Amino acid sequence: MTDIDIAIVGAGFGGLGAAIRLRQAGFTDFLLFDAGEDVGGTWRDNTYPGCACDVPSHLYSFSFARNPDWSNTFSGQAEIWAYLRRCADDFGLRPHLRFRHLVREAVWDGAAQRWRIETSGGAYTARVLISAAGPLSDPSIPDIPGIEAFQGTVFHSARWRHDVDLTGRQVAVIGTGASAVQFVPQIQPLVGRLTLFQRTPAWIMHRGARRISRAERFLYRHVPGAQRLVRTGLYWMRDGMGVGFLHPAVNRLASKISLRTLRRQVRDPELRAKLTPAYAMGCKRVLISNDYWPSLTNPNVRVEAAGIARIEPDGVVSADGVKHPADTIILGTGFHVTDAPIMRHIRGTDGRSLAETWTPSMYAHRGTTVPGFPNLFLLLGPNTGLGHTSVVLMIEAQLKLVVNALKHMRSRGIVAMEPTAEAQRDWSAEVDRKMAGTVWHTGCASWYLDASGRNTTIWPGFATSFRLKLRSFHPAEYAAVAPTLERRYADV
Ligand SMILES: Cc1cc2nc3c(=O)[nH]c(=O)nc-3n(C[C@H](O)[C@H](O)[C@H](O)COP(=O)(O)OP(=O)(O)OC[C@H]3O[C@@H](n4cnc5c(N)ncnc54)[C@H](O)[C@@H]3O)c2cc1C
Repeated sequence: MTDIDIAIVGAGFGGLGAAIRLRQAGFTDFLLFDAGEDVGGTWRDNTYPGCACDVPSHLYSFSFARNPDWSNTFSGQAEIWAYLRRCADDFGLRPHLRFRHLVREAVWDGAAQRWRIETSGGAYTARVLISAAGPLSDPSIPDIPGIEAFQGTVFHSARWRHDVDLTGRQVAVIGTGASAVQFVPQIQPLVGRLTLFQRTPAWIMHRGARRISRAERFLYRHVPGAQRLVRTGLYWMRDGMGVGFLHPAVNRLASKISLRTLRRQVRDPELRAKLTPAYAMGCKRVLISNDYWPSLTNPNVRVEAAGIARIEPDGVVSADGVKHPADTIILGTGFHVTDAPIMRHIRGTDGRSLAETWTPSMYAHRGTTVPGFPNLFLLLGPNTGLGHTSVVLMIEAQLKLVVNALKHMRSRGIVAMEPTAEAQRDWSAEVDRKMAGTVWHTGCASWYLDASGRNTTIWPGFATSFRLKLRSFHPAEYAAVAPTLERRYADV
């Protein structure tokens, strides 16, 4: 059993950012556990053709580790992954990294006032647990009848099979979300036949990607403040786009622009009808692409909107009874967002897991801490997602709260603390109040909603308002937790 002060689960943007901020604040006794073989999280795992960020790179990166060398305004996976590996090196995190350490269980030990952590690489105890396991890290495999008997190749886009040559293949793609919109135009020219199974068409906007010139990169590297200025401009421009989600008139205008592009790019009225969303823009993630709709107009593509009845060994049968022959199925079916596995593995003061505590719906104070789970901080916890700008901004806001909380504990000699139930209730009530009536709540069924129909994913506002709310630590919202034995004696 190894004792450490702080355990961090995950080495993606969240875990790496936490480690960097902790070191800068003088907390040096920490380890990062990751189930994978390298840092990067999302950007290590998603290697599908065309994978790239959909928020400008100068904003989709740490404010404290700006990269003057981004080659494209929307960089590809390889470049983002390289950036995160560089962050791990430049900030001296390598000695703190423990790869192939899947965290199987983390249980609060009330007597010792520590987290007992079981990993596939050994057992640890830690005073503080930071979960940065990622909201989009566990691929969701649909439970379609017959899928296990399929005789061809099946894989999820987040676990792309680069050993499978798709040239000339009969490919069925299931799902039309953010990943499919990126990889479908890439594979369409290669494959023999592509059947795209669509449940709901996506709203799509223009993707203004362009190469960043050498002159610009020179400027960012050598002219003090130049890159900061660009980032600031992008910050306000992107956060301003949140207005579209909050104000129906702006939303309607954006929808008109999207539909005009669809009309221009897809001439066939039947195909266009299938691709036309019948719900308010923004209730699902708005996607950006210039080549997705055009790629679907090619003769080797069929968009199937009837739904899937079952999978047979050599094809997919749609709900209208038509069989679509396939030798390869690619699942673009998203991730376990509101039911991520880590929630079942973290157990608090009463022995219940986060998943149990969060049935039917998940709540966290300021999206980060949970009553009954002392010294636990969740990065990208409930209601911290964004549809319009970079979630790295949200992670950084949360890290401010984490560091301020830990500094407060250090200065007061507090070993363990948790948010009060009242503080958490007030916070969640405010989130729900802000959410009510927005397009995220009323617009459609989406992966933003949990099984109870509550939106537990999205922050119902601007990134700026979240950052302001997490800027300072409010000690009155937290209570110190006494060791279990002492509490028991006090009760007697
Ligand atoms: C294809 C794709 C594109 C995206 N593009 C954007 C974008 O343009 N803009 C944007 O804002 N967001 C985007 N996102 C969202 C993206 O997930 C976040 O921006 C960000 O990468 C999340 O970082 P993270 O560190 O929280 O999680 P992740 O990057 O998912 O990292 C989590 C890490 O935790 C590890 N882990 C999980 N469970 C355990 C466990 N039990 N034990 C040990 N290790 C564990 C995983 O192996 C992983 O390495 C995108 C997501 C995807 C999938």
